[in-house]
Amino acid sequence: MSSAISVKNLYRYFGKLKAVDGLSFEVPHGSVCGFIGANGAGKTTTMRMLATLDYPTMGNIEICGIDVVNHPAKVRSLLGWMPDHFGNYDHMTVLEYLDFYARALGYRGKERQMRIQEVMEFADLIPLADRLSNKLSKGMTQRLCLGRSLLHDPQVLILDEPAAGLDPKARVELKQLIRILAEEGKTIFISSHILSELGEMCDSLLFINDGRIVHHGDAESLMSGSDATGGVFYDVQILGEASKVSDWSVTNPYVEFIADRKRGGKIRIDSDDPAKAAEVLSRMLKDGLAVTEFHREKRNLEDAFIDILDQQ
Ligand code: ATP
Repeated sequence: MSSAISVKNLYRYFGKLKAVDGLSFEVPHGSVCGFIGANGAGKTTTMRMLATLDYPTMGNIEICGIDVVNHPAKVRSLLGWMPDHFGNYDHMTVLEYLDFYARALGYRGKERQMRIQEVMEFADLIPLADRLSNKLSKGMTQRLCLGRSLLHDPQVLILDEPAAGLDPKARVELKQLIRILAEEGKTIFISSHILSELGEMCDSLLFINDGRIVHHGDAESLMSGSDATGGVFYDVQILGEASKVSDWSVTNPYVEFIADRKRGGKIRIDSDDPAKAAEVLSRMLKDGLAVTEFHREKRNLEDAFIDILDQQ
């Protein structure tokens, strides 16, 4: 079975600027993929091409096996698009706004009412039905935009920075909505600068820099990955004097003491080979340290992203 999103050797040049410079990746059906990159990395340009709003300079994109350049109308019927900025209309209520889009999508009569009702319930827009759509808060506006993108019940959602500018409560609400959509089996491709949030909700993370992929993997392995020079961090706790961990570390060649901890310390082992960690632990025990905890520390995604950029 084909992937929900398949991108092969994708390029987009603006004059001499290579905004997208040879991207290839696949997003399986029913998964959530986070798209991460610094300002100007090429995220919006890529997403606009996926959403049939721009043409690649070169390369292929398929949504559910359908080519976006040759069959844009078919792709649009499968795809919901939430841009980072979206236009609004004066003097139009939330209900009228959704009704306008539902009509444009070709829904008529009872079916149209049902689609609007379903979307309003899902995105908690019912209390806002009569509010002017251009006078909503940022969080409400994002919910309206998400609702709009769901009117035709698309299989694939492309969400460009949906959490930008939201307060923490609105971010949590949005995250819950995205989680529900993922549980319903939709494929979600989402860009964000808030990496810690993406880590929680994404099955895979795609890091892009200067229009090129610098990493594609799951959040778990990224957070437990090695640092830029291949080392990994362990939290060690012992019975007795915490300083014994630092004293022990200075006598051992491939262990570096990094920081004090209440009952021990954080150390760095110069390889992410588990056999090396096992050797370090057995040496500690042999040398008389009463180890009560020995576990690999997780990095946050921001650190992982910076490490990946450093490695480039
Ligand atoms: P941000 O996080 O700031 O939104 P981004 O990763 O989405 O950034 P893009 O908007 O894709 O980045 O821009 C990638 C590069 O392409 C930037 O250097 C941008 O200035 C350039 N660019 C984007 N659209 C155009 C355009 N229509 N004409 C010329 N250059 C463009």
